[in-house]
Amino acid sequence: MTCDMQTWVGAYVLDALEPDETEALRTHIAGCSICQDEVVSLSWIPALLRSVDLEGIESLGCTRRRAPAGRAARWRCCSAQRPR
Ligand SMILES: [Zn+2]
Repeated sequence: MTCDMQTWVGAYVLDALEPDETEALRTHIAGCSICQDEVVSLSWIPALLRSVDLEGIESLGCTRRRAPAGRAARWRCCSAQRPR
């Protein structure tokens, strides 16, 4: 089963919605078992994001590219990979 509101749950758990949207979704989730399950299945994401520090983020994209040492150089490496 799916719910039309389900796609908003990801933004909800990341606290990325406007306050009125958050309130509307919270009300919906209280009465929707599908979205409740979605919240549970996504609830590890905010905790993961809080646990990742800057060094961890840098290491995700740049270790294989043998980026030069130094934080500034590594950030240039990261930004160069972004699509324009
Ligand atoms: Zn729902």
